Amino acid sequence: MKSVERHISDILGLVRPLPPIELDLLRAQGAVLAEDVAAPVALPPFDNSGMDGYAVVAADVAGASGAAPVRLPVAGDIAAGDTGAHAVRSGYCARIMTGAPMPAGADAVVPVEWTDGGRAEVAVHRPAAAGNAVRRAGGDVGAGDTVLRAGARLGAAELGVLASVGRRTAPVHPRPRVAVLSTGEELVEPGKPLAPGQIWESNGYMLTAAAITAGCDGHRHSFVGDEPSAVLDAIDDVLMQADIVVTTGGVSMGAYDPVKEALAGLGTVRFEQVAMQPGKPQGFGTVGEDATPIITLPGNPVSAFVSFYVLLLPALRRMQGVAPDPLPTVSARLSAPVSSPPGRRSYLRVRLEEAPGADGPTAVPASRQASHQLSALADADGLAMVPEDAETLPEGTEVAVLRLPRP
Ligand code: AMP
Ligand code: MG
Repeated sequence: MKSVERHISDILGLVRPLPPIELDLLRAQGAVLAEDVAAPVALPPFDNSGMDGYAVVAADVAGASGAAPVRLPVAGDIAAGDTGAHAVRSGYCARIMTGAPMPAGADAVVPVEWTDGGRAEVAVHRPAAAGNAVRRAGGDVGAGDTVLRAGARLGAAELGVLASVGRRTAPVHPRPRVAVLSTGEELVEPGKPLAPGQIWESNGYMLTAAAITAGCDGHRHSFVGDEPSAVLDAIDDVLMQADIVVTTGGVSMGAYDPVKEALAGLGTVRFEQVAMQPGKPQGFGTVGEDATPIITLPGNPVSAFVSFYVLLLPALRRMQGVAPDPLPTVSARLSAPVSSPPGRRSYLRVRLEEAPGADGPTAVPASRQASHQLSALADADGLAMVPEDAETLPEGTEVAVLRLPRP
């Protein structure tokens, strides 16, 4: 059987970072920056007031106190956005608002709270040192300073930074378009009644959501039955709008495994047994004129889920222009003994618990671990790995746990 690592690297070999495009800022949310971004000008671009108050010559108010306030005539008002040329001479002041440009000659702002708030004349009852409440030009970033590096994933803070340096668009690796296609004659659209022998289609929703959570554009396509020609037609349909195709079902050893049947004939997709549990039957390769990568996952819902996070996620990350890292791992002690088939690495659904005073988290295995038992998945926050050479692990064994992302 093929090792998990080998299969991950084979899938990685199919993909490259998607070529950068310029996207409007809000469309770029969740995408990965393709180039360093620098500030074209200093920020703030001009000296301005950090508070509402009075722009003064600091030396004028050096002796101000509650008992002996300094009285200054107010020469005028300066609001944020004021583009006029203002100046303050010793012995005068200007009323100034937060963000308004500092007038020439003034070197401090007395916050309104330190004054009587006068309009024509103001009584200052506390001294303000030179530079008080003044935001210096370039105090945030200097002209030409790099504010974001290639590889940054654009969230709220990053988009704010881009806008603050004047960008309306950003050069990003676009979110990979992941087409999810489920197969199975037994599948029924959720919301519709079940006939005997049928089940509701769940993998499509699950994998599409996983792709979106991973920063991709996930698209759930309508599922198809177990006719190989229908599978090929459906793949043809989705190719136009996909950077990568993910199928589920139809890749095991059964008589009606249409994905395997349909794709094996093309000669560009390989079907293999990977030494993992769940998720043993796997396929990968390319389809269509553009040699679009296709990953064929098994149909059992837990197998499909584990396969996505273990085998596919690194490739999706590479397509996004970031390092193809696996999920982050934490070390935890098993709260109960577990078993695993020899020669295969098990991925067990566990809940991570932090007991007070314990020397690390505890991994509590879900009671239902079979690959069709989807219900325990929503309770799990990690996948505990049982090594290939272990058949049983006693309670208390330290295991590595892949932390599952939460939306
Ligand atoms: P297969 O890999 O096609 O042999 O399917 C394995 C098991 O997973 C069968 O019990 C299927 O009914 C089930 N299954 C396959 N595809 C789906 C799906 N999209 N949603 C829910 N269960 C599925
Ligand atoms: Mg099937």
